[in-house]
Amino acid sequence: MNVADSQRVGSALERLGYSFTGTLEEADVIVLNTCVVRQSAEEKAYGRLSSIKPLKTKNPALVVNLMGCLVGIRDNEKLRDRFPYVDVFSAPSDPGPLVSFLTQADARNIDSSETVNRFAIMDGDLVLPEHERGKLVAAHVPVVLGCSHACTFCIIPSRRGAERSRPAEQVLAEARALVTQGVKEITLLGQIVDRYGKDLPEGPNLATLLHALHQVEGLERIRFLTSHPNYFGEDIMQAVAELPRVMPHIEIPVQAGDDEVLKNMRRGYTQAGYREIVQKIRERIPGSSIATDIIVGFPGESEAQFMQTYHLLEDLRLDVAHLARYSTRPGTVAERRFTDDVAEEEKMRRFRLLEELQEKIVGEINRGYLGKKVEVLFEDKVKNRWRGRTPTNKLVFTETEQDLRGKVVPVSVTWTGPWSMQARI
Ligand code: SF4
Repeated sequence: MNVADSQRVGSALERLGYSFTGTLEEADVIVLNTCVVRQSAEEKAYGRLSSIKPLKTKNPALVVNLMGCLVGIRDNEKLRDRFPYVDVFSAPSDPGPLVSFLTQADARNIDSSETVNRFAIMDGDLVLPEHERGKLVAAHVPVVLGCSHACTFCIIPSRRGAERSRPAEQVLAEARALVTQGVKEITLLGQIVDRYGKDLPEGPNLATLLHALHQVEGLERIRFLTSHPNYFGEDIMQAVAELPRVMPHIEIPVQAGDDEVLKNMRRGYTQAGYREIVQKIRERIPGSSIATDIIVGFPGESEAQFMQTYHLLEDLRLDVAHLARYSTRPGTVAERRFTDDVAEEEKMRRFRLLEELQEKIVGEINRGYLGKKVEVLFEDKVKNRWRGRTPTNKLVFTETEQDLRGKVVPVSVTWTGPWSMQARI
């Protein structure tokens, strides 16, 4: 989400006449876009902010913009006191405060009545900043901002605000614009992307949005994330199953395999419910891949409860498991209500157990691809090998002198490992 937001800030600045530099010392404007999903990320953001201070001291005309979840949607007085050298504070996904600041402070005579047009960047036309145009094959498109779910461990709702869907026309305009800028694949983003449109009076919903995007000429692939077991409905499954350019890869976090832990997390479903949804996905979308997220060591998680998660993963044999060790996030319900009582070494042990299990499972799943023909959309070249992904989101490397960037090419898989595959054309 932050990468997508930064791209949009970049192109908004270009509309004002700025251009990108990779050298911090050269910059007239520095935008620090922050993530605070974990305390360690927040500390890193503070560290980065402090490293910008000497530049501001040396060059008082430098504009420093702090953006993203560190700023949040309200109450940033403390931040303003702590970092007086920051000129502009912007909430996640909002280039507005920076654009206003620059157009008022800038002496380059930009007509302020144009401000609305400059915001139109969020409605379409130029989405990527110049240095990424024509180079980026896959891009992200935020469609739902914020989240209203309030899982007890999560800071996102308080930082990104309540759930808001972007109008379908904006999303479609942005997709068309991205295609003209060389993009072949878009991934629709939302904290619970399945809830797209639930707050829009006339709809549409995610399924109808997928149908509409499927008509966009030149768009080869469409993905979306993240799904939630309570909202991933039949209509979305059907859209994925019947639309060939919507990729059969579902990111649907379970977080824990024990019902009491799930209740304490306030996820809103049970282990049995999750198993059921996985089974349905496999029935309705044959050949699909499924990814999940798991947190180990949530407060109060006993060995027996952890083993429920272990067995769930063992039984379901999913393609990806993003694993995390629980850490207390100040400002969350979990911080107020529970004690972080699983020892760090124990969290690590549980993490490693799941990691080993998942490595074995995905190694076996990927071996099934050996000798098979798959269609890969190639994105870039890394150390002489082209890198791309299958519809099921498996990473594939191919050696060839041909220019494969942005092309969907059928390849034969010659080697597989748990994290990637090799193939030849
Ligand atoms: S669904 Fe839960 S974990 Fe995901 S963003 Fe919303 S509150 Fe956080």
